[in-house]
Order: sequence, then C-alpha cells, then structure tokens
Amino acid sequence: MADALLGPAEIRDLAARLGVAPTKKLGQNFLHDPNTIRRIVAVAALRPDDVALEVGPGLGSLTLGLVGAVRHVHAVEIDRALAAALPGTVTAAHLTVHPADALKVTGDRFDPAPTMLVANLPYNVAVPVVLHLLAELPTLRGGLVMVQKEVADRLTAGPGSKVYGVPSVKLAWYAEARPAGKVPPAVFWPVPNVDSGLVAFTRREPPSDVPRAAVFAVVDAAFAQRRKTLRAALAGWAGGPDRAESVLRAAGVSPQARGESLTVGEFAAIAGAARQQGS
Ligand code: SAM
Repeated sequence: MADALLGPAEIRDLAARLGVAPTKKLGQNFLHDPNTIRRIVAVAALRPDDVALEVGPGLGSLTLGLVGAVRHVHAVEIDRALAAALPGTVTAAHLTVHPADALKVTGDRFDPAPTMLVANLPYNVAVPVVLHLLAELPTLRGGLVMVQKEVADRLTAGPGSKVYGVPSVKLAWYAEARPAGKVPPAVFWPVPNVDSGLVAFTRREPPSDVPRAAVFAVVDAAFAQRRKTLRAALAGWAGGPDRAESVLRAAGVSPQARGESLTVGEFAAIAGAARQQGS
C-alpha cells in the first residue's frame, strides 16, 4: 500500500523523532497539508511515464505525492540528515535520494533522466536553482515550482510589468512560464511570514541561436541600471555609449528604450548584433 500523505500531527511527530530543528538558512518550511500536496501534483499535470525531479524533499511531504504519480522520483536534498531519513518515510522503490546541493548537480547523476521539475523550493535559492536545472538538464520538459509569491510574480512577468527583470527574461529563454495559484502561509511548519505562489513552466526552443551566455550578459547589464536608457545602461558592456547605440540600432531596438520593455528575443538580437559588429 502507498504511504499516506503527511498532515500536521505526522509532521510534528516525524520532526520530533528525527530531531529536526528547521533552519531559515536552508529555507526549511515543511508542508503539512495533504490538500496542498494533492493540488500541486494535480496542477503539475504529470504523466505516468514522467520522471520527477524534486529539489529539497525535506520531511517527504511532496515526495509522497509524487511517487504515486510518476514512474520515478529523484529527490535532491542538501541536508544530509533529512536525505538519510527520507527512505524511512517514503518507502517506494522508484525513489532515488541524492544527498547534494541542487545548485551543483550535473545531469550525469540522474538515471532515468528527469522530465519534470516539481518542488517546494528553498526560497533563498529558488531562481538560481530553476535556471541551473533548466540549463543542466535538457530532458526537463517543464515543471511546477512553489516559491515566494513575490518571486513567482517576477518569474512570470512580461515586458512592461514593474516586476519584469532578470529572472523573468532568463526563465523566458528556456520556457513559457505562467502563474498557477497562491498558497497561504498556514500550510507550512514553521509558518513563513510571506505568501507563496506556484509557477508552471513548459520548455520551449531558445528564441535565438546566439549563445545563451552572450544574451544573459546583455540582460544583466540592462537591468543593473534599469532606470537608464539602454544606450546608457549598455555603455559599459559595449565599450562606450556610441558603440551601444550602434549595436542597438543594428538590432532594431531604440537606444532610448529601457530593458524593462524588451522581450527575450530582443535581448538576443542585441547580443547577436554585438557579435556581428565585433563588440
Ligand atoms: N519539499 C518539502 C516540503 O514541501 O515540505 C520541503 C521544502 S523546504 C521549503 C526546502 C527544502 O530544500 C529543505 O528540505 C532544505 O533542506 C532543502 N534545500 C535547501 N537548499 C538546498 C539546496 N541548495 N539543494 C538541495 N536542497 C536544498
């Protein structure tokens, strides 16, 4: 029989038995609401032949939901004590526990290869974790992640929005992202002082064949001084404001525009024009 989902009493007992004292540093807020787990698994729209990658299984709340939905689950947990305890809570044979830092994992450690990222992410490293895994694991076809609501808004923002910025553009390089709901603080132990949001994403072809690193360098430069026009903001990157203007014109982007109004495709066009001009 499948292991039952964990409610508040089970989480409390499990934490006491394992001597777990949640730390802020590792973003340890554990889900203790079976309805939220069922909701996450449903919204993730997993297929039975999917291979799920979960970052930060913690006490196993979401892992228990995932093992019932897919053919294999990889769970990457940085906290060695939690990683060691996980097989005692989630007894499924199709679970592989990886005691590791998700920011450093490479694709070769996962067999079978992950197809979906589904995670209640540690909030302090959520964006770098998502970007690292999309870069490192081309087999990921999409995912559903829970992050701080404010970060969910940034990840799913489009050009022109006040919260559109580096995370929005970089995620758009890899995937189409959409908001998939809000989650209240009360479903976690300990209770965080922020709301959480779900972000669903589907991998797409990169918008350009200009190398990703070159495009991301333009994005970083444009948003480092987001109030400035691109002519000014990209001066340091291009080797002077006149060179920045010439690259922008060649890319078909107004030198007076600001980074917050550009699509990822336009950032790629700027990087491509710079390469052609040898900037
Ligand atoms: N999935 C569990 C749940 O929903 O109850 C726990 C989620 S908790 C928000 C984040 C988890 O990520 C913690 O278990 C924490 O130890 C782990 N973690 C933090 N930083 C990590 C990293 N760099 N790599 C892997 N796991 C990490």
